Amino acid sequence: MTTTHAPAVPGLAADVLAAHGDRVTLHDLYDEAGAPVYHDLAATDTSEIRELLRATRALPGPVLELAAGSGRLTLPLLALGRPVTALELKESMVALLRQRLAEAPAGIGERCTVVQGDMSAFDLGATYGAVVLGTTSVSLLDAEARTGLYASVRAHLAPGGRFLLSTVDVTAGDDDLDVEAVGASGRRYRMIEHWRAGQEVRRVTILAPEREIPQDGPVPVFTTAIRVLPPDDLTRELAGAGLRVVARHALPAASARHTGVLLEAEADR
Ligand code: SAM
Repeated sequence: MTTTHAPAVPGLAADVLAAHGDRVTLHDLYDEAGAPVYHDLAATDTSEIRELLRATRALPGPVLELAAGSGRLTLPLLALGRPVTALELKESMVALLRQRLAEAPAGIGERCTVVQGDMSAFDLGATYGAVVLGTTSVSLLDAEARTGLYASVRAHLAPGGRFLLSTVDVTAGDDDLDVEAVGASGRRYRMIEHWRAGQEVRRVTILAPEREIPQDGPVPVFTTAIRVLPPDDLTRELAGAGLRVVARHALPAASARHTGVLLEAEADR
């Protein structure tokens, strides 16, 4: 088995990989080989966009979007007609975002300010009616970085402004979740998720469905670990950081075991 700095996978995924032996090439989902797979799958996931737009529309003033990536949420936010500041850590993502903005219909891209920065420590010298952190990206940060995120967000909320963030509630099963998904390209993927109650991370492993794996040649497999931050825990953590959750909306379920949740928090004054 070839690895590119990707860790061993547990449970059902380990059995599936063992069946293909040394034909397996294991990649991190966010490395060079994995990124196109992530984008293919993410492009079809519109589950939170409607709720995010509805909540943002109700808040006056400019919008700050954190962890903007290549703009999957940025462009719909801009379509609301507000100025949007999009903050993103990775240079490669910032470049993709700038390219998409340049290609957007006239006027839209001009309302967007792109900032390369770290959402756990930023100072933009401005305040916003809505600070948006979608795609459950809060789970990318460890506890210390989340403390920095909350302090930075508080400092950037205008009076009455709200922090809108999504997370996911996961129901543990005795077995691993094994589902098929279709990417924007039409390509099919088998997704295996391993999580047991109390574990800090769930591990997602992605490969072609068994029937589509050729008899010979490499079998590419992509894996990532996602921190589990249940909405009740996150609500308590936000309260401890002076951000009071004032509304909570269920998002369309990604699977029988996942419930997306959008939280709206205001700063204690
Ligand atoms: N919101 C986009 C979307 O829906 O496609 C991107 C979501 S992607 C799951 C998470 C993004 O967060 C990546 O583009 C990653 O580079 C960025 N990111 C990770 N850590 C970050 C940090 N500390 N500050 C800002 N962005 C960060």
